Amino acid sequence: MTTDNIQPLIYKSTRGQAKELYFKDVIFEGLASDGGLYIPSVWPKLDNDLITEFKNMSYQDIAFHIFKPYIDTSISDDKLKEIIFESYNKFTDDEITPLNQIEEKEYLLELFHGPTYAFKDIAMQFISRLMDYYLTADNKKINILGATSGDTGSAAIYGFESVQSSNVFILHPHNLISPTQRKFMTTVSSKNIINIAIKGNFDDCQNLIKEVFSDEEYKKSKNLGAINSINWARIMCQITYYFYAASRISDIENVVFSVPTGNFGDILAGYISKKMGLNFRKLIIGTNENNILDRTLKTGEHAVKDVISTSSPSIDIQISSNFERLIYDACKDSNVVSELMENLKNKGSYKLSNEMREYIGTYFSSDTANKKEVEEIILSYFKKYNITLDPHTAVGVMCGKKQKLSEDILVTLSTAHPAKFKETVSEIISDNSFITDKVKSLDTLEEHMIIANKNANDIKKLIDNHVA
Ligand SMILES: *Cc1c(COP(=O)(O)O)cnc(C)c1O
Repeated sequence: MTTDNIQPLIYKSTRGQAKELYFKDVIFEGLASDGGLYIPSVWPKLDNDLITEFKNMSYQDIAFHIFKPYIDTSISDDKLKEIIFESYNKFTDDEITPLNQIEEKEYLLELFHGPTYAFKDIAMQFISRLMDYYLTADNKKINILGATSGDTGSAAIYGFESVQSSNVFILHPHNLISPTQRKFMTTVSSKNIINIAIKGNFDDCQNLIKEVFSDEEYKKSKNLGAINSINWARIMCQITYYFYAASRISDIENVVFSVPTGNFGDILAGYISKKMGLNFRKLIIGTNENNILDRTLKTGEHAVKDVISTSSPSIDIQISSNFERLIYDACKDSNVVSELMENLKNKGSYKLSNEMREYIGTYFSSDTANKKEVEEIILSYFKKYNITLDPHTAVGVMCGKKQKLSEDILVTLSTAHPAKFKETVSEIISDNSFITDKVKSLDTLEEHMIIANKNANDIKKLIDNHVA
């Protein structure tokens, strides 16, 4: 396949009022200036022959073919390949995202073999290097500002650790992430890493970031960059493992992917893979008790409730940012999206039209796993298969089992290593053998973090103090 001489893809905002951009600018932009999210103007379709060839390709080679149509002329093929290979060097499994078959019709797609034990590494290792490439070429520095429900933060910190062209400020909800998640972030002692614990929940952290970024002048003067799950490059990176998994399974038409979902970034990548020509059957949205998306699919009403804290903290989310991209794709009308998002902001809810509900229903189904079900599935998989699931993966498995049809092949995305949630998991299975030396060593290191109120001006002051 040759992709030379093809015009680079244009990205536009889901709300239609922001400037159209090419790839290089999209990855630094984060939220669009109209409050929307950038989305490609078309979904590139891959040749069926190419998809068939993926069988014989490595994860890294597949990634190159996925990324290529989304990228502009700002980077050569050779450089892109080099960055992809470097990004996945630190993964502890040669397959990068190995498929673990546990039954004739059941697999776990293991996404936790990166340096911080969760799927966020797959995108963050790449983005940090890609940004560094662009920044170095332009002789620029950047200040990364991000919010984390527990795993994005550590993935960003490990991604940008060696990137001297940046400071990294990470907001996490104080006392609402697992101690091991926190220690992955706070035990890194580099001067360019600043951890801020916010007295609030993840949605508060996300809102603070949006507020700081909405001050255009401030954003420019500090050269702020976003690495949130709305960052387009993160979504793009995540498309790869759906194609990778499919290339290792023969009966792809019967595959359903079940995905524990919070901000809708991971599962959106699955939707896009289908748009690009991957012919699996369905995506299953798995939620814990914070089941706004499950309720949306079942009732058509997207209504925010209070966040409940559960054993799967990375999906304790009510404001599911990337869902806006699906909403846009379901109607292709930025006026409709803007109106729904206004309703969400002002009334805490919106209602989907019947057409949009129907569209979404052809690609997705959904379910909820409660605390007791999560515990049961972790214990039963430990006993039956000698596999230790993390609580997020357990949500995915449980919802997948509830939603799958008998002929389906269930592939659950295993989004984190259980050791990152060792406090919860060891209590459920009464066993500690899954805890790795790396995680044990975190408990011996000194932590660095600042505790702050949920106030955007306080965050700006913290940034000012660190940036000349
Ligand atoms: C971030 C995260 C999720 C949710 O991913 P989204 O893209 O926000 O839907 C699920 N599981 C784990 C372990 C995570 O870190």
